[in-house]
Amino acid sequence: MIYREYGKTGKLVSAVGFGGMRFDLSKSDEENAELVRYASSKGINYFDTAPGYCDDRSEKIFGIAFKNMPKSFYVSTKGMPIQYDTKEKAKEAVKKSLKTLGVDKINFYHVWCLRKMSHYELAMKPGGQYEGLLECKEEGLIDHIVFSSHQPGHEVKEILQGGKFEGVLLGVNILNFPYRWDGVVSAYDSGYGVVAMNPLGGGMIPKHEKELRFLGSKGETPTEAALRFNIASPQITVTLNGFTTKEQIDMACRIADEGSSFTENDLEKIKNNLGENMNAVCTGCGYCWDCPMKIPVPAYMQFYNDKQMFGKSDEEMKKELKRISEWGFLAVRKGSAKDCIKCGKCEEACTQHLPIIKRLEEIAKWERCLK
Ligand code: SF4
Ligand code: SF4
Repeated sequence: MIYREYGKTGKLVSAVGFGGMRFDLSKSDEENAELVRYASSKGINYFDTAPGYCDDRSEKIFGIAFKNMPKSFYVSTKGMPIQYDTKEKAKEAVKKSLKTLGVDKINFYHVWCLRKMSHYELAMKPGGQYEGLLECKEEGLIDHIVFSSHQPGHEVKEILQGGKFEGVLLGVNILNFPYRWDGVVSAYDSGYGVVAMNPLGGGMIPKHEKELRFLGSKGETPTEAALRFNIASPQITVTLNGFTTKEQIDMACRIADEGSSFTENDLEKIKNNLGENMNAVCTGCGYCWDCPMKIPVPAYMQFYNDKQMFGKSDEEMKKELKRISEWGFLAVRKGSAKDCIKCGKCEEACTQHLPIIKRLEEIAKWERCLK
């Protein structure tokens, strides 16, 4: 395992981090905790979670794992400014996470999911979340206050320049780096820790290995190439991986030990192959789930990725839509694309700023043709 210094915090963190967003929920909490312990035995020392992840089981799973793990690890969790909009609520949230995680201190606490500047302003308002977190820091409950962002590079830069945070968590990977890299570089150059989430594009890269084979070199699979892109980049301090198996942990650790970073030449070739459509894709994060019409927005948007990424024809999309409506993840849906009332709630929540309503209109047209 390679270790990097997290910004100016003096903490040496593993280049591979354990992201607690994708535990296998068909397994027991104890079985999932065993996977966390396995990661620790392989040298991973950065564990990232949040309240609400995995049906609210993620922090609990880490709490079980931490009881029987060497103490030399760092834990990261989060709180949203829209949810904890007063300092009292923010402090309560920290104390709740500490209790669930069974630790005395949270090493990296994220002001979570900033999608626009007004979210940042909300966190920073007098008597707001940030003030509560500062008090927690003074009481020794938090080591470092950091933030997670789904904003464009210049906004990330503006927040960092405000000097209130010690690091940032960003969604950057081999598919979207042409659009996201300026945020990474400005954070790194200014001496902040940079944690990357979504190295596999929310599972899109393993799912499309055939179409994305140009990402790999010398027998490398696209998945391995994507992990190497993040893990071996010196500008990225930690890459979070949503592990569900030991084999995935072994692969990421091997890449950390052996992988070399991409050259400028490699990156140029990839950029030329990617085209312009890889930024506006759904990562499956699920933040848009709360649709008043019960439309399964994340499922529809992940389905739409095939058109966005690979320019599939309407006929191909209809064929796939038929298949997933009968047998796949749309088979049990309560609402359909046509039921959208354009309230905008999902677009407001979307971490990737996708034009969900427009895409649903297109999908609704395909669905009509299937009847
Ligand atoms: S805009 Fe449509 S899909 Fe989005 S939350 Fe509103 S009704 Fe649901
Ligand atoms: S549509 Fe946006 S918010 Fe919803 S799952 Fe996809 S990326 Fe996440």
